[in-house]
Amino acid sequence: ELEFFFPTQQTVAVVKPNALSEKENIVKKIEESGFKVSLSKEQQLTKEIAEQLYADHKDSEFFNELTDFMSSGPSLFMVLTREDAVMGWRALMGPTDPEEAKQSQPESLRALFGEDKLKNAVHGSSNVENAAKIIPVVFGEEAIATDNNEDETQQQ
Ligand code: ADP
Ligand code: MG
Repeated sequence: ELEFFFPTQQTVAVVKPNALSEKENIVKKIEESGFKVSLSKEQQLTKEIAEQLYADHKDSEFFNELTDFMSSGPSLFMVLTREDAVMGWRALMGPTDPEEAKQSQPESLRALFGEDKLKNAVHGSSNVENAAKIIPVVFGEEAIATDNNEDETQQQ
């Protein structure tokens, strides 16, 4: 019998401004999927922080529209902890385009709460490095150390 183990990871999840009114439903689905919400903060991102969040897209044609949208109203910023959190959260979000999500992943968050390619309800980090970069920007430098300590305590 083979058993597979995935490492515990942290990823960043954001309920985007267009879906903030659905935050209770979204957090419920997150918790039902086995994620721990380790840190949580509702805030209106500055344009500058939105640009840091999407730094990998700075040469994209939709970068300005995207960072304007992300800084247009409050969003819910979370750190999620779980085994295989990066891929697991992306699976729960579904495909980038809500129309595609409705076809292929009708139970995904983007199928349920997304409006269009831009206003697709939720963000997720593409890898642990990107998550680790933005966590201290939003939650302060002490966030990572605090959260790691908590994790160690749980493992003992
Ligand atoms: P994902 O969020 O699924 O990782 P991408 O990294 O490709 O998707 O894009 C980042 C974000 O940019 C998307 O979540 C969406 O809000 C926005 N976006 C992606 N493609 C488009 C597009 N063609 N037009 C407008 N906005 C887009
Ligand atoms: Mg991406």
